Parts: sequence; C-alpha cells; structure tokens
Amino acid sequence: MAAKIIDGHAVAERIRQDVRRQVAELAQQGVRLKLAALMVGEPPAGIVYARSQARQCEELGIAYELIQLPGDCGVGGLTERIEQLNGDPAVTGIMMHLPLPQSMDTPSMQYRIDPYKDVEGVNAGNIGMVFYAEPIIAPCTALAVMELVRDIKMEIRGAEAVVVGQGAIVGLPISVFLVQQLATVTCCHIATRDLAVHTRRADLLIVAAGKPGLVTADLIKPGAVVIDVGINRIKVVDSAGQNTVKTVGDVDFKSALKVAGAITPVPGGVGPVTVATLLRNTVEAARKQMERTCTGA
Ligand code: NAD
Repeated sequence: MAAKIIDGHAVAERIRQDVRRQVAELAQQGVRLKLAALMVGEPPAGIVYARSQARQCEELGIAYELIQLPGDCGVGGLTERIEQLNGDPAVTGIMMHLPLPQSMDTPSMQYRIDPYKDVEGVNAGNIGMVFYAEPIIAPCTALAVMELVRDIKMEIRGAEAVVVGQGAIVGLPISVFLVQQLATVTCCHIATRDLAVHTRRADLLIVAAGKPGLVTADLIKPGAVVIDVGINRIKVVDSAGQNTVKTVGDVDFKSALKVAGAITPVPGGVGPVTVATLLRNTVEAARKQMERTCTGA
C-alpha cells in the first residue's frame, strides 16, 4: 500500500490560524509585533522569499520590514544594524536571510542577535539551551519536524528514530528533541560506515543531509514514518526536452512511497511548516520579551 503523504501546507495553515488568534490577543493588550528581516547582498531567491514572508506577516497582522544591506557592508556594518534592531523596542523579532557573503561567519553573526528576538532560534545561546530543554526560542526547522510527527500522532516514546545529518540547526537539535521525548535515537552523518544498517531499523526516519536521492526505498523499514528535510535544487530535462531546475529532497520520493507508512513530500512538507513555525516563534519571542520586562531578567 502506498504511504500516506503528510500535507505540510495543511499543518502550516493550522499553525497560522493559531498565530492569527495570538496576534489579535496581543493587539488587544496593546502589543504590536514587528519582524525585521536582514538581507546582505543578493542571496539567490532572497527577494522572492522575502516578498512571500512579507505577505504572510501582513495576513496575520505582523508588521514586516526588509532591511537590505550592501554585500560589502562588512562584519562591522551588519553588527551595527543588528545592535540597532536589538535595541529598538518596536522590533520584536529579527531574522537573517542566508547565505551571508563568504567573508562573514554565519554562526558568529547570528550570535549577535538578541536571543529574545532570534525568531529563527539559531543564536548559539538558544541552540545550546535546547540541551536543557529550555531555549528562549527553539530552532524553527527542528520544531517543524516535531510538529509534523505530532500531527500524524506517532508515538515517539520508545520508537527507534534515526536522524541522517547532524547539522547544528537541523539534525542535531532534532536528535536532542527526540531523545528528550524518550525515542531511542541514532544520529548518522558523513562518516557513518553503513547508513542502511541504521536506517532500515528506523520506525521514524528523519533525513537532513542536503544530498538528493540519498535515501532510496531499500533503506527504509516497511511502514516507517519518513520526514524529508532536504532542499536541493537539481537540473532536469522537462517533458518538452528543455533544461530546467527542480526542487527535491534527500529521499527518493517515488520509490520511498511504496515502502514507507507515511512520508513528507518536497516541496510541500517540512518547508511550509518551517515558515509557519517562524511566525509562531515571532509571537513566542514577543511573549518572552514581555516576561523579561516584567521579571527584569
Ligand atoms: P549541514 O551541512 O549543516 O549538515 C548536513 C549534514 O548531513 C552533516 O551532518 C553531514 O555529516 C551529513 N551528511 C552529508 N552527506 C551525507 C551522507 N552522504 N550520508 C550521511 N550523512 C551525510 O546542513 P543543514 O543546514 O543541516 O541542512 C541539511 C538539509 O536541510 C539541506 O538540504 C538544507 O537545505 C535543508 N534545510 C531545510 C529546511 C526546511 O525548512 N525544509 C531548513 C533548513 C535546512
């Protein structure tokens, strides 16, 4: 039997409805949310993504400002802008479009964002506190994966979970979340000797490696839940014989569909839920800032 295809758009819509309700509730208390998005130079598809983000924020009642800095602004120029936003009480959330120019170290720039305004949950302080289950704001893609698993009502406690990829903002925090929910977790990576030995025992298989076609049907346990985090742009020839570019995940979706119990597509799986989670984190950030003001923390 073909796997159930997990609809990321439907999960994202449920999150947006909750965000809309919370934004209205905060507005009644006189709290206005504003997300500032930093963009340095011209990252590929950056403007398209920013426009879509601006539209989604507007629909939910969140103010959005795109701040574009020249590619040669340097570490000093970007730091100065981040510090202005950190100190601006009207700005409740800050995010940074990637990639940054090669001359900048991404984690060290993300570290300069106030952890209470870091809506992507990528500040080293927030990531570190994931280990204590107490980040101010958790990394949104890792949260999105957990949301998808929750949505299909999979029992995580006691499950064999295998995470392929130990990236700092995706694979590693997902592994920690799963351990905290009492799954038995194996985290595989580039040095894993025999990937299939591990993935074939997984009740829950999460793939975040950035390698198209890495996981084929023969690596999947029949009936497993497969969450494909990978986003890869590959060149293909379309039905009219034209060269074109297509977005695919790390899992060979067509073959995996015949073996898995449930699977996320790419696009339309983790991606939309990550975007919606960023908006929910924007609400969460505003609430945490209110608590900080009250407690003087
Ligand atoms: P990363 O480069 O930080 O980490 C990649 C990990 O994959 C590393 O731990 C590496 O050891 C492992 N890996 C690479 N090749 C492997 C192989 N052949 N076998 C086993 N492990 C292998 O990348 P990242 O930032 O963690 O992102 C991973 C993927 O997730 C990328 O495709 C990225 O575009 C995607 N991503 C998606 C979303 C989303 O919203 N869907 C968000 C963030 C990242």
